[in-house]
Amino acid sequence: MKIHEYQAKELLNKFGVPVPSGQTVDKANEAQNVAAKIGKKVVVKAQIHAGGRGKGGGIKLAETPEESKMRAEEVIGMTLVTHQTGPEGKLVQKVLIEEALEIEKELYLGMVLDRETSSLVIIASEEGGVEIEVVAKEKPEKILKEHIDPKVGLQPFQARKVAFGLNLPKELIRDASKLLMNLYKLFNATDASLAEINPLVITKDGRLLAADAKINFDDNALYRHADIAELRDLSEEEPTEIEASKHNLSYVKLDGNVGCMVNGAGLAMATMDIIQLHGAMPANFLDVGGAASAERVEQAFKILLSDPNVKAVLINIFGGIVRCDRVANGVVEAAKRLDLKVPIVVRLAGTNHEMAGEILENSGLTFKVATNLKDAAVKACEAVGV
Ligand code: GDP
Ligand code: MN
Repeated sequence: MKIHEYQAKELLNKFGVPVPSGQTVDKANEAQNVAAKIGKKVVVKAQIHAGGRGKGGGIKLAETPEESKMRAEEVIGMTLVTHQTGPEGKLVQKVLIEEALEIEKELYLGMVLDRETSSLVIIASEEGGVEIEVVAKEKPEKILKEHIDPKVGLQPFQARKVAFGLNLPKELIRDASKLLMNLYKLFNATDASLAEINPLVITKDGRLLAADAKINFDDNALYRHADIAELRDLSEEEPTEIEASKHNLSYVKLDGNVGCMVNGAGLAMATMDIIQLHGAMPANFLDVGGAASAERVEQAFKILLSDPNVKAVLINIFGGIVRCDRVANGVVEAAKRLDLKVPIVVRLAGTNHEMAGEILENSGLTFKVATNLKDAAVKACEAVGV
């Protein structure tokens, strides 16, 4: 689960990681009051679940409270396009009004799970503010990594090592080590999956603060963090993904136009791969589960067809626990109830697949029945004109 920058900063503050003072508003004239209270130059920052806001025009400096109102007017209600939002952009509903920092240097600090070593890793760089992927590519020597042994947790000497590695001025080493220890506490206490401070800023008056913050959480641990779960902003999420999660379907919307309905994550990945191999692009990842019931198939079908980008559907289901005839019945029932405008390619393999084939043939609907995975991919690609 993702949260907004302002929510991440409230959490950081709670755990003793310094952040600039500020407040979130959804109306421009409230911005003026907040700026007046802060009493100095402010930044107006669009709150959306995506980075790259600075380049996209979602972050503006304001010298006076009146100017902060004008800047907030420009940003609230705008559709902000960044390299992380996709071309359709995201509607800005809230802005964070924050004390503007006089920046001396921008650093990068991240904490993330490293699956290769089965441990958390701190990633830090004195080349912050920019995309860390670019630093990693162009100046890999500027990236520090410190792995945290899960048995003992982050040790103070490691935090100091990172602080020294960042070439911080002597008087900030202690603050930086404490900041790292506190970030680690936050990470563990909230079951985070990623915490990123970019930039971590050294100000001209010698303070070290998180000027931006991004924290993601492990969805599977949310049941034990009611306070974190409450921070979820459904308006930032894909409506189809929200609908899918209500039915316990693993669904991720993608950019292509072949809607996929598959059981089992491995088969789903293979299906997406083979579609691309034959020249088309999947519109989604969708795993209806190993024991896909007819009801779940029907729900999944509805979700797929509600995506206007979907120009054909490929149903690829292995009948192991579930029988193919039951899946076929589910598909036929759903197809009859829904207004079908796109070709449906179906490949069912496993228990009772012959019976399933007959059900589809005799349904009075025009399914394209495929005999194997490759055939299914070819038929799906033909159906979208590739
Ligand atoms: P992002 O573009 O979505 O990652 O948003 P950030 O919060 O990281 O802001 C992008 C850039 O705006 C930062 O790297 C800074 O250069 C600049 N910026 C953000 N806050 C301040 C501030 O308080 N003062 C100044 N001078 N620049 C800021
Ligand atoms: Mn940033």
